[in-house]
Amino acid sequence: MAIETNETREKSLNFLEEIIETDIAKGNARVQTRFPPEPNGYLHIGHAKSICINFGLAQKYGGKCNLRFDDTNPVKEDVEYVDSIKRDIRWLGFEWAQERYASDYFDQLYEWAVELIRKGLAYVDDQTQEQIREGRGTVSVPGRESPWRNRTAEENLDLFERMRRGEFPDGAKVLRAKIDMAHPNMLFRDPIMYRIIHAEHHRTGNKWCIYPMYDYAHGQSDSIEQITHSICTLEFDVHRPLYDWFIQALDIFPSHQYEFARLNLTYTMMSKRKLLKLVQEGVVMGWDDPRMPTICALRRKGYTPASVRAFAEMVGVAKRDNVIDLGKLEYCVREDLNRTAERRMAVLNPLKVVITNYEEGRKEFFTAVNNPEDEAAGTRQVPFSREIYIERDDFMEEPPKKFFRLAPGGEVRLRYAYLIRCEEVVKDAEGNVTELRCTYDPQSGGGSSSDGRRVKGVIHWVSAEDAVKAEVRLFNPLFTKADPDDAEEGRTWEDNLNPESMVRIEGLLEPSLREVPVGRAVQFERVGYFCPDTDSTPERPVFNRTVTLKDSWAKINK
Ligand code: ATP
Ligand code: MG
Repeated sequence: MAIETNETREKSLNFLEEIIETDIAKGNARVQTRFPPEPNGYLHIGHAKSICINFGLAQKYGGKCNLRFDDTNPVKEDVEYVDSIKRDIRWLGFEWAQERYASDYFDQLYEWAVELIRKGLAYVDDQTQEQIREGRGTVSVPGRESPWRNRTAEENLDLFERMRRGEFPDGAKVLRAKIDMAHPNMLFRDPIMYRIIHAEHHRTGNKWCIYPMYDYAHGQSDSIEQITHSICTLEFDVHRPLYDWFIQALDIFPSHQYEFARLNLTYTMMSKRKLLKLVQEGVVMGWDDPRMPTICALRRKGYTPASVRAFAEMVGVAKRDNVIDLGKLEYCVREDLNRTAERRMAVLNPLKVVITNYEEGRKEFFTAVNNPEDEAAGTRQVPFSREIYIERDDFMEEPPKKFFRLAPGGEVRLRYAYLIRCEEVVKDAEGNVTELRCTYDPQSGGGSSSDGRRVKGVIHWVSAEDAVKAEVRLFNPLFTKADPDDAEEGRTWEDNLNPESMVRIEGLLEPSLREVPVGRAVQFERVGYFCPDTDSTPERPVFNRTVTLKDSWAKINK
């Protein structure tokens, strides 16, 4: 085992921790972060990583993390999303210091905009969106100044005030920062600060009809909350100079922005817009369809908060974009569930077995261990009777060498119960095996045998008359391509949807599985991890496959 020294510990700091520790060394000990979702969709695994970073850093350094809704676009936003975001963060195990909204700051942002106008650093532009876009130029061609760029401060103040009062229709005017139309960073070519949108906002109602743009709202909101480390994804690095520009122009609390690489996962679509499309078109059952990469979907699928946090920790914080193997996420939930999930027996592809020397009508119960990794999980009683089901795969008529399960004339142990020997194979007219007729060794209950002979194979089973029928949903990745956006010519990302992303089968469960709460994953021994779905009813239990026992997908697709 490696011994952790001071040196190795320092090396294992991620770059954000390094920045913070440097700040602390300089005497700036306060750590205030924030997680700033736009309430326009459900959080996904990428957001989970951002949450773990922001809340995690605050926790580690005795700081605080705010939850701030970046609600500056009333058209796309909704309270439905606000509520789901709060639920998902709490489910992940984090609690925010303060719940804030960019819309809380609309008055302050407006005042600051007025201040910038007074300083000659902002102006009202009457150009159309199209004209503004054209006038911006390109990376190699400098932009053109707007004919309205040199309005007096008085005129700008008057027009901006009238914009706010609702005198102009959508798109008639915008407020722009007056910076430099030839700036090499395109974002500096007089960025738009406010646009007119006559729409009801989910929090401010009809108070406002002008709304600030991201670049104007975000840094100022950080500053108001005295955020020390404003952490965002890499694509915002070009925005950082503008973030700093507004803060300097207003001479307000100097928050700083730091960028890390966003999480990309193989076989996973992370674009909110495209995920919304899948929901709206009914391709999936909803935002929480277990095939979605959303946090609520992971929860419905049986993932634990600890497994998602472990995944975020495992992938770390990078400065360069990369793509993480979906197998890592599955590995994390498998590891966690191996420790925490209770074991049960269920047969997903049943083959009937009649134990001919076991009395008809007799019933006994065997004691089964709930979790070999956790003694405290205790035991349960599993009913046994003359007719049982085993997994079809656990029988082979002509077994190869080293097949330790059931074969004609062979013997196998039924988990927790008896040894049985296959005496006869019953087939239908087409030659399909429909039933096995076996005998059992009455001395072999609970692990022993009558003469001490050793039997290698142990298989799971369920008692036929006690079995609970359930719909079992087997999930595979939603896309057939590691990069879902990688579409051939004339095709789109939607052509990469996996037609076999959900396979529904009927399974036979041991009766105690009726009692498992929705969302709580258990291990179906030798099969995988499964949890009751929200669609489950007492009459019709529905189970989701959380994850397979082993990583079969990676093997097939390599
Ligand atoms: P939108 O396109 O709607 O802006 P978004 O995915 O950026 O989508 P936000 O609600 O703005 O969604 O994101 C909130 C926070 O989560 C931001 O700080 C953003 O950088 C971070 N985030 C979003 N996607 C990822 C990702 N894939 N990996 C890591 N962090 C992410
Ligand atoms: Mg965003």
